Amino acid sequence: MAVSEIRSILVGLELLAEPEPDVFDEALETAVRAFQQNRGLGVDGLVGDETWGALDAARWRLGSRALFHSVPDALVGEDVRSLQERLLEMGYDTGRPDAIYGARTARAVAQFQREVGLVQDGSCGPQTMKALRRLGRKVVGGRPQWLREAEAFRQSGPNLVGKTIVIDPGHGGGDDTGVVVPDGPLRWNEADLAFDVASRLEGRLSAAGMRVHLTRGPSPAAPMSGAERAALANTLGADLLISLHLDGHTSESAEGVASYHYGTGNGLSSTVGERLANLVQREIVVRTGMHDCRTHAKAWDLLRLTRMPTVRVDLGYLTSPADRARLIDPMFREQIVEALLAAVQRMYFPVERDVPTGSIDVRQLRLALAEKG
Ligand SMILES: [Zn+2]
Repeated sequence: MAVSEIRSILVGLELLAEPEPDVFDEALETAVRAFQQNRGLGVDGLVGDETWGALDAARWRLGSRALFHSVPDALVGEDVRSLQERLLEMGYDTGRPDAIYGARTARAVAQFQREVGLVQDGSCGPQTMKALRRLGRKVVGGRPQWLREAEAFRQSGPNLVGKTIVIDPGHGGGDDTGVVVPDGPLRWNEADLAFDVASRLEGRLSAAGMRVHLTRGPSPAAPMSGAERAALANTLGADLLISLHLDGHTSESAEGVASYHYGTGNGLSSTVGERLANLVQREIVVRTGMHDCRTHAKAWDLLRLTRMPTVRVDLGYLTSPADRARLIDPMFREQIVEALLAAVQRMYFPVERDVPTGSIDVRQLRLALAEKG
């Protein structure tokens, strides 16, 4: 990717005034940061693969090309996302606004075409674009996609048994070890610790009657992208996805737990995903006393492309001596697993039966049941 290309896209988005000079200067970095913030990407001012993908997609403005369902290589771009958001506003079911013109978007377009009396081909050409432009701002129906997601979740019933959950230990494979911190003769790394928590959680959730899948084994051959992990969870038809990471920072004083759910700056977010993230965050903070870095909406591939409520939780900073001392202790990781298990159980409690945070003690529950038996 050339600097001139990055500049011209950002000028097109009105985030940068001048396409010159052809160097990565301070003004360009500021514009990249503004773009990343706006798209819910990690804000570092650098143009890595994910930021480049988003910039590349941002070239397309709605109306600048005809849109249609192309197989196998779907059209991708900001114009597709604008179309999806506009259709969602009007109550058509495009699924999440993921910027990909897939079968579901084509069906939503066809439904719109039928209702406004156009030829029903599922493609968005000049006629359809004109009709959308005429109607788009007049008809607004809230956030139907998220209402549908919430309703589907409610209908799945208040029970863990038979539900499918995917646990995604971050990183792993090839050189992708995530955050690595040397500690005397030892080298702690994010990938191994995340896998350890994931496999402990797998055991506990299976025992509770859930179907549990891990996205990777302890030492996979190759690294996996967020999109690949999302595709795997979609293929499995998962009801929930929990992605486990640790954080790292150049400052040793950065510490604490943070949870992330799908959402964009445009106010579109996964309400069930947000609830899952809030529960995970609260249970961990209350049970462990770790610093609360709160929940945040992000549009990362893993959160954006999954079709089920998804949370990514960063279980503390491996670079913080205080967090690290706890994270390397297996007993502490058990406590984290206990918190995650409680959050999942709480997802399936009807609201009126919900109990205060930190009060579901799974071990005691199991002991009580064993005594009864
Ligand atoms: Zn990570």
